[in-house]
Parts: sequence; C-alpha cells; structure tokens
Amino acid sequence: MKLIFLGPPGAGKGTQAVKIAARFGIAHISTGDMLRAEIREGTELGNAAKSLIDRGELVPDDVILGMVKNRIQREDCKNGFLFDGFPRTIAQAEALEAISAIDHVINLDVPVERLISRISGRRMCPDCGAAYHVSTRESGACDCGATLYQRDDDKEETVRNRLVVYERSTKPLIDYYAGKGLLHTISGDADIDTVDARIREVISK
Ligand code: ADP
Ligand code: ZN
Repeated sequence: MKLIFLGPPGAGKGTQAVKIAARFGIAHISTGDMLRAEIREGTELGNAAKSLIDRGELVPDDVILGMVKNRIQREDCKNGFLFDGFPRTIAQAEALEAISAIDHVINLDVPVERLISRISGRRMCPDCGAAYHVSTRESGACDCGATLYQRDDDKEETVRNRLVVYERSTKPLIDYYAGKGLLHTISGDADIDTVDARIREVISK
C-alpha cells in the first residue's frame, strides 16, 4: 500500500501518519523529519535547508526528490509507505509518478483559523517524532521519556508564511489528485481517534 497525506501545516498529517503506518505495517516517510535529522547531524544538505525552513519556504524539488528516491529503496518500504509532507509541489508529484504508483491520497481538511493555534502550541519529540500540544502536555515530556521542544519554524510569523506557501504551491495538488481519481478529502477538525477511524475506513475499501 502506497499513500500520500496532503493538507496544510498543522492539519495533523504527522499524528495520523504514525498511527496508520503502524497499523498497516508500512513505512512513515516524513520529508520534514528527514530534513530536521539532516539539520541535527549538521550535514551539507541540512545546513543549506535550514535557512529556507526557518523562513517557511520550500526546499528545492531536486533536493527533496533525491532524498525520497533513496528512502523508498530501504527494506522497511517493502510492504509500502506513507508520504507525509511529500509531494508539496506539482513538479514533485509529476516526478513521483515516474517512480511509483500511489493507491490513495488522503487530504486532511482543517479550517485555517484552527491551524495557527494548533501549530504555535505544538511541541515535538526529538527522538520518536511524536507531536503534542502544550495545553495537554504540561510536563513537557514525551511518552518515550525525551524532553519535548518547539520547532524553530513553529513561530507565528513563520507559520503565516508556511500557510501562504501552502496555498500557492501545495494546494493545487488537491485538484491534481482529484483529476486522477485518487483523492479522499477527510475533515481533520475532530479528535485524533475520530480522524484515524475516518482515514482507515477510506483506505480499507
Ligand atoms: P508542516 O508542519 O509544515 O507540514 P513539515 O515538517 O512537513 O512541516 O516541513 C517543514 C519544512 O520542511 C517545510 O516548511 C519546508 O521548508 C520543508 N519541506 C518538507 N517537505 C518538503 C517538500 N516535500 N518539498 C519542499 N520542502 C519541504
Ligand atoms: Zn518520543
């Protein structure tokens, strides 16, 4: 099974992706997590990407495609994979089409006004990639024991630019995948388990 999760920043793609990937035994491939790992390791790629990410801009398509092509060769992708945050431009989607056939595209729909508060209160686990909201995690610790942190690009001003970039570059993918008959739009404006159940229902058909 090969899936794509589409949606604006803060729609809950990462949260739902972890659950669905575990349930179906497929690899969770988050290009954002991959880029943040490169930044932490101080690689050349990571250093080049950091200033773009911190401004809320996209990393160039060829960089992303190089990473993704390598990643899907790995052993854990043999049963399939779930892309979270990729593709993000029409050019990325067209390049993906040449290397792999996707089964379903899940478009998580959340009203814009809900996104800002979700993202600016978001706290991430550096070790396992889990995401929490400050309002429900006063301890500041992940279930795995690690100390949560706030992403540099989760500051409000950067978040606003990420939403602009989403509208301009990524939203056109909704029509692109609808045209191919692959799109399922699901409301992400509900609690985590409800959204999870909606996604499972769609991809189990
Ligand atoms: P979001 O919460 O905005 O979905 P991600 O963790 O997916 O965040 O991505 C964070 C940043 O990493 C993006 O704002 C962008 O700069 C970069 N990035 C991630 N995936 C891609 C991609 N497929 N193409 C271009 N840039 C990307
Ligand atoms: Zn953790």
